[in-house]
Amino acid sequence: METQSRTSSALALCRMGLENQQWIERCLNAQWVQEAKQFQRLDGQLFQLFLQQKTLGRSQYYIWHTQDDGKVRPAHAANDEGIFAWDYPPATGHPGEDYNCRCWAEPVGDTEYARQVLITPVNDNPNKWTNENFVFHYLLGGGVPLTLESTGYLGDIIEYFATHAIAKDGKVGGYRAVEEQIIKLALDIRDGEIPYGFEQVYDFEDMKYTFRNSTIIGNFSGHVRTQGEYLIINGVMSYDFKDKFEDPGSAVEALTRYLGWTREDAQEFVRDNAPDLFVAVYDFTGHWKTKLNATIRISSQ
Ligand SMILES: [Zn+2]
Repeated sequence: METQSRTSSALALCRMGLENQQWIERCLNAQWVQEAKQFQRLDGQLFQLFLQQKTLGRSQYYIWHTQDDGKVRPAHAANDEGIFAWDYPPATGHPGEDYNCRCWAEPVGDTEYARQVLITPVNDNPNKWTNENFVFHYLLGGGVPLTLESTGYLGDIIEYFATHAIAKDGKVGGYRAVEEQIIKLALDIRDGEIPYGFEQVYDFEDMKYTFRNSTIIGNFSGHVRTQGEYLIINGVMSYDFKDKFEDPGSAVEALTRYLGWTREDAQEFVRDNAPDLFVAVYDFTGHWKTKLNATIRISSQ
């Protein structure tokens, strides 16, 4: 059964297509060939969209989510995490419909649905550290540990981990790997806390050579509950990043290997700066959290 909104958006596209056809005709009558061609191109795109609307449509059900803070109105808090049908809105209307409502609908797919939303503010240094910065911190920083944020790389690491990081089993995308593990546990637990954590080495070298063999430690704090034919998972994933500036040996080694200096230049620099050189390996740390929501249709598993 098609939902009302799905039908109406397909109809809207249809109407746009008809109007477009009229414009094409008018342009051709006026011998505006270039303009007519543009409308024809647009028409092709509209038709593709129309096909997508017809075949993909949208999920018939959704899960109501509030922003989970003190500003949520009580009637909406009562809907939080409940399943509703697009065809039968609750008395409050659908999420986001009411004035200033910040609630959102998580579509319930046929099999499963999982997403992670970053809930940690990322205050990255806008001046990203260069290779020189990293090497000079090794030479002169006295081993003082750094945060990813202070070097400008927390946002990049999060993004890279979420979508590109490769797990031991070869799966690409750290978030997906985490979600799959949590879903697997939830299918056994059905109702209750989900104990899940991992510690794994990932290679972020593609992003920045400094972050090779970095450790990610993840911990989930959340639960699963059964609602009708769905398992609903809610919780917070906490991620910790740990790495060290790899010890290149001596100051000369660091300058030649990482910055490509000639051995002579490096030796001269070391001679000139000998009193200030400290040469110490240092740690990087980073931390972020995501809100994790997933829905699984039990019968599909
Ligand atoms: Zn609301």
